Amino acid sequence: MVELTGQRVLVTGGAGFIGSHIADVLVADNDVVVLDDLSSGERENVPEEATLIEGDVRNLADLAQAGDVDVIFHEAAVVSVAKSVENPAGCHDVTTDGTIRVLEFARQQDARIVTASSAAIYGDPETLPVGEDVPMRPSSPYGVDKLTVDHYTRLYADLYDLPTVALRYFNVYGPRQSAGDYSGAVSVFRRQAQQGEPLTVHGDGSQTRDFVHVEDVVRANLAAATTDAVGEAYNVGTGAETSVLELAETIRSVAGSESDIVHEDPRDGDIERSVADISKARGRLGYEPSVDLETGLGTLIR
Ligand code: NAD
Repeated sequence: MVELTGQRVLVTGGAGFIGSHIADVLVADNDVVVLDDLSSGERENVPEEATLIEGDVRNLADLAQAGDVDVIFHEAAVVSVAKSVENPAGCHDVTTDGTIRVLEFARQQDARIVTASSAAIYGDPETLPVGEDVPMRPSSPYGVDKLTVDHYTRLYADLYDLPTVALRYFNVYGPRQSAGDYSGAVSVFRRQAQQGEPLTVHGDGSQTRDFVHVEDVVRANLAAATTDAVGEAYNVGTGAETSVLELAETIRSVAGSESDIVHEDPRDGDIERSVADISKARGRLGYEPSVDLETGLGTLIR
């Protein structure tokens, strides 16, 4: 894994799922500050050695409490397609406006910044696996917000010469992912299987995703924070396409569960097929996914 040492690091959304894993690997060799409003994150996720600022990324005074920073990992956002369909303006406020504030803070500090973009920016891609340069037609407000985040990230490199990178995560899973109604399929199916409830698949389950383990996402972040190939956006997935029905069946079998699989209405804004072309991240960041789905689900569930 690429190493980052002796830096003062800010992780926004660091009490959440992905941000807390980034903070975890950095605390031993860096001075880590987490800024999180705990709207969906948990205080217990923040490593003890890190400093937690309970605040809002839209508020410059809260950001300023982080002091001088060298590197920023910007993970804070409203992380749900469904929530964004219900409340586009509220999600835009946090995800897009919040990101501009964090980019401005990075500019003031002349700090490196890695932002969390998303596969949602592609909408239903015309060709698969989806490369970074395909036409984009997001199918949800969340996707539009993330596309804006992605553009602003590049723009700050172009306009202000700031070392920025946007990482387009595909479907991330792993420990600490919340399992509420708005969460990703892996954590919802896992909870349902472990509680003996039916696994609820939206639509017929033929929709596909690229499920990437959070450890690999952390590796991509470290590579992005140390690369010379800045001002770029990179897909972070595995290149493997799995249907949601296949995922439900695998989770049920790994969990040794006898739960039924039931089908519910398809969700508005859901993408039909998605799988990443990761050759750009491989070539320029040296990114190589190391956890396959069976192994990742096995350790998560057992
Ligand atoms: P998460 O909900 O666990 O983490 C987000 C964190 O941001 C939470 O701790 C929340 O409390 C915090 N937050 C929200 N609004 C805030 C605000 N205004 N100010 C400060 N903190 C705020 O979600 P996650 O899965 O860890 O996602 C992290 C990032 O990765 C997000 O930007 C998300 O859009 C992106 N992403 C995630 C996935 C995935 O599969 N999980 C896929 C693509 C992109």
